[in-house]
Amino acid sequence: MENKLFIYNTLTRNKEEFNPIHPPHVGMYVCGPTVYGDAHLGHARPAITFDLVFRYLTHIGYKVRYVRNITDVGHLEHDADSGEDKIAKKARLEQLEPMEVVQYFTNRYHHDMERLNVLPPSIEPHASGHIIEQMDLIKKIINNGFAYEENGSIYFDVQKYNQKYPYGILSGRKIDELLATTRELDGQEEKHASVDFALWKKAAPEHIMRWESPWSNGFPGWHLECSAMGKKYLGSPFDIHGGGLDLMFPHHECEIAQSQAADGVTPVKYWMHNNMITIEGQKMGKSLGNFITLEQFFNGNHPKLEKAYSPMNIRFFILQAHYRSTVDFSNAALQAADKGFRKLMEAAKTLQHLTPSDIASSDEIKTWRNRCYEAMNDDFNSSILIAHLFDAVRIINSVNDKKQQISADDLQLLTTTFNAFVFDILGLMDETESGDNSELINGLMNTILQLRVDARARKDWAASDAIRDQLAALNIIVKDGKEGTTWGFKE
Ligand SMILES: [Zn+2]
Repeated sequence: MENKLFIYNTLTRNKEEFNPIHPPHVGMYVCGPTVYGDAHLGHARPAITFDLVFRYLTHIGYKVRYVRNITDVGHLEHDADSGEDKIAKKARLEQLEPMEVVQYFTNRYHHDMERLNVLPPSIEPHASGHIIEQMDLIKKIINNGFAYEENGSIYFDVQKYNQKYPYGILSGRKIDELLATTRELDGQEEKHASVDFALWKKAAPEHIMRWESPWSNGFPGWHLECSAMGKKYLGSPFDIHGGGLDLMFPHHECEIAQSQAADGVTPVKYWMHNNMITIEGQKMGKSLGNFITLEQFFNGNHPKLEKAYSPMNIRFFILQAHYRSTVDFSNAALQAADKGFRKLMEAAKTLQHLTPSDIASSDEIKTWRNRCYEAMNDDFNSSILIAHLFDAVRIINSVNDKKQQISADDLQLLTTTFNAFVFDILGLMDETESGDNSELINGLMNTILQLRVDARARKDWAASDAIRDQLAALNIIVKDGKEGTTWGFKE
């Protein structure tokens, strides 16, 4: 493993040396999407951030079990304990089974993630598939005296918990302040205090997603699934829990309280939170009308977008900032990111054709390589890493322009390191090689048309006509003019 890795732990507000509980194994849990709508730019950031973490930990030799859940039940509209279930509401409006909504948007989420080259997690559990585990957790919390029943619903008793364990250790919030500032919401009168949260809710007659339990026919509270599934697949405690900063309170704070109340163990060693994406300085939100889905970015079909932006353009744009900094979207920023990304891809191609000189190796490349690892070991600083990769781009171009020489060993080290960081760790891809084939098609057409010119020169009309007819069958039209032969696709 390359030196020591330091991770900023939200729990301690410090960068700490990473020492997994059971090396070389690492358990990582990240809160996944609530699948009731298309993924937007705000979903791309945690996915790409923890993909980077997953890729880097794997690169330096850890065996990572990465769990990212699908929330398909219990996430209510107001993110608190009131309102309709987000999935059930969508199902009602679209006249679908809730699981049809879940499947449809899960498929679309996977498709978006694949285009962004986000690796699939090791396990992707659904909340609705772990109702028994969630009920078991509730039973333990009740037995330990930290929850109460009210009319078939179960609530977590935050004040009682706080007498034994500190509530608010992750977010720094204080119960007294929360009690003073949280107002009682309508329909929340079952709770003994406004800071309490639901572990189980008795379903109203019209509620369609419901399960039998010892307390009522109902459904689990939103925070419970992550505690139950994290413990089931990663044990307690496990190494890393990640998510967006917006989930730190109340979601992650409640996760800690639930696990602590059930098992007496603080569930997670390192808490990591990615910062938010704003759009032209504003928070992104459906109600603000500045909500852009990933698909809209990819096809350019949104009034705020000047053009389409490729998945790698988006990925590079997000990775250009350290995950704990805010990122502000604008067309100009995305277009600048695209220029940088293309420069990097060009350099990767140039690197394949560089020839070494018969000179002694210097320390330049070794020092550069160390700096790349230092950047990543400093809390996954992809922003600094990318700056170092542009130093390599300068070296590559100057060797290519014969302004600088490089030894065979150095060239070898430069190539393996550059490719490892650009492709394996940052997860970038050369899109000209995968999606957009225009360069390839132009090259092939030039070859084919030259064959036809040669056929005509030897008056081989049969061959010349056969080429034209076969291209026509592919909707390609060949035109012979004074300036030579041109081609185009049939309108
Ligand atoms: Zn979660």
